[in-house]
Amino acid sequence: MKMPVLFVGHGNPMNAIEPNEFNRAWRDLARRLPLPRAVLCISAHWETRGLQVTASAAPETIHDFYGFPPALFDVQYRAPGEPRLASRIAELVSIPEVRLDPDRGLDHGAWSVLIAMYPAADVPVVQLSLDTGRPGSFHYTLARQLAPLRDEGVLIVGSGNIVHNLRLFDFDDPEPFPWAQRFDAMVRDRVLARDHESLMDYGALGPEARLAVPTPEHYLPLLYPLALQEPAESAGFFNERVIKSIAMTSVLIGAPS
Ligand code: ZN
Repeated sequence: MKMPVLFVGHGNPMNAIEPNEFNRAWRDLARRLPLPRAVLCISAHWETRGLQVTASAAPETIHDFYGFPPALFDVQYRAPGEPRLASRIAELVSIPEVRLDPDRGLDHGAWSVLIAMYPAADVPVVQLSLDTGRPGSFHYTLARQLAPLRDEGVLIVGSGNIVHNLRLFDFDDPEPFPWAQRFDAMVRDRVLARDHESLMDYGALGPEARLAVPTPEHYLPLLYPLALQEPAESAGFFNERVIKSIAMTSVLIGAPS
């Protein structure tokens, strides 16, 4: 069986511990998807030059944020790693070379979502880093090399946000910016139209792109599941909500109906 592929808008790290509509959707989704042998996560919060993959058998929980309550820093998501999967990824990706990192843990782009999806932490998790110096087309081509993993029980999850502008974010006023809604809607339209070419070249996606994607790291993880979409597979959305300048919109591709 071919595993589905997923892009999750992760948003606020507090989604890891505060029950809300977003993490309920993550939990419910995991319950209806086939149970994966392992998760491969491509997160906005592991930016590197060159590619690295987590190869620890027991990756630590990285608290890569500031100014949040102690309860969030207390979270330990103890899913095992899977060094064998890390090696498999290095074998599948021919260009460029992927370096195994035996020390790197899981960042909150991965664990804040997976803690809702797999609360027992019994599904191994491996992360592939994001070389944000590279263009969208690089990520798309790279992701296609991961396709065999879908037949090996691996759930591939891109974790970011389609619209992500923290500078303009306001915790006290969730009213979405019209430009953020327009960009989110445009991306959804193009996902449905399978216009991956224009989604790769996100800087040219109209005047809103500069505000919606001021830096590429939260947008690029979207390209991984898109690149893995097979011709017969459709894409669906969930958590379609924009909060001020952050879109939580998430994409599921290839799920059994
Ligand atoms: Zn983030």
